[in-house]
Amino acid sequence: MSYQHILDDLNYYADPRVRAKERGDWFHTILDPFTVVIDFYDENGDCEDRKVRVTRAVCPTCDGIGHHVNPSIDSGGLSAGDFDDHDFEESYHHGHFDVSCYECHGNKIILVPHPEHEKEVITYLDQQARDEYDSFLERQSERRFGC
Ligand SMILES: [Zn+2]
Repeated sequence: MSYQHILDDLNYYADPRVRAKERGDWFHTILDPFTVVIDFYDENGDCEDRKVRVTRAVCPTCDGIGHHVNPSIDSGGLSAGDFDDHDFEESYHHGHFDVSCYECHGNKIILVPHPEHEKEVITYLDQQARDEYDSFLERQSERRFGC
């Protein structure tokens, strides 16, 4: 695997759009507009369904637009030279390479745990996010060696 290919992989998988896609939803069921269900593991590793009250937030991945450029196009950045091709430039700026947002699936908003009623769940999810980030760093390290 060439150095450039490895670098492209590292940039692609570190892109926030791709990370959002890989993360997926943090809940597994929507019960009603104000309640979702998550797998909640206790300190013994036992899993139980847990109902979580939710509210809504503007999607941070697309800033509430609902779509973004396909990260396969620009996750490694684009240079001025890329825009020497005027067809590419025009297509890029007119959204021809856009895809439905990987996080909100085009909804422009996302469900988040209710900040006042779900403090324990928020702490739990923050820890899960830290664990996931550690795992991501491990995968990136493996990619550096072309694995
Ligand atoms: Zn979005």
